[in-house]
Amino acid sequence: MKSYPAQLMENLNARKRAAGLTSAHTTVDIARLEIPESEQLDALARETVHTIQQGLPKSFPEIYVKLDWVPWRTWSRGGRYQGEWRSRLNDHEMTTGPGINLAMHRRLRNAAVGTVAEYKHLSKFGDVGDFHVDGPEDSVVLVVLHEVAHAIDHTSQAQKAASISLFGNRLVLPQRSEPKPHGIRFIRIYSALRTEFDRVDNSRTLTSDLADELLDRVERWSRVPDDVDEWAKDPLRYTRERRRRKQKTRREQTRGDAL
Ligand SMILES: [Zn+2]
Repeated sequence: MKSYPAQLMENLNARKRAAGLTSAHTTVDIARLEIPESEQLDALARETVHTIQQGLPKSFPEIYVKLDWVPWRTWSRGGRYQGEWRSRLNDHEMTTGPGINLAMHRRLRNAAVGTVAEYKHLSKFGDVGDFHVDGPEDSVVLVVLHEVAHAIDHTSQAQKAASISLFGNRLVLPQRSEPKPHGIRFIRIYSALRTEFDRVDNSRTLTSDLADELLDRVERWSRVPDDVDEWAKDPLRYTRERRRRKQKTRREQTRGDAL
């Protein structure tokens, strides 16, 4: 019997031949061969981006989509790409524009069923936070929305746009000299996209209900409040009470030490 890697390569080569692929094809093509549903998920990702593109102004550049099935790719990204990066990987013309690159294989493994975790400072909000997904399809849609929000954010920054029309609503995007990657502009766009695609947990605080000055604070959080819903109701009182509780604990500890 052949060793495992050799057998694996033989199986893959047989599948490649059956699929009409030659040795010129990349590891991406090979990775897809092992996943029968990969084409449906690719189609779903593209369809989601297409729907968002329809909701953007006609003047907004076309969002470029790369779907990466290499099993070891764990990170997705979205932004505004420079031509060189795009042409090297895809034989495309040298153009600069909005784009996303998704780690598709990961959607099947870690993120197929359960909670898709968002960045910590966003995690507890109903419209930009952690979200329960029922399967790979759900997970694909959620990651597309997140990465496209980056693409829209960076492109509108490059255009020096202070607002953007999205699905018929005008979103005000505060200008920042040093914008944060998951800052207020990203939050406004991502929230609008998740609302449009019905990916919102209404039982939690929504960032769309918060004024810009509160979101300014959220983007600077180094430690997320234990109870974001309480914080959002009255941030001043929440901070005051937390300080008071901390002082009380410190006093009690000091007293304990003296005994
Ligand atoms: Zn991100």
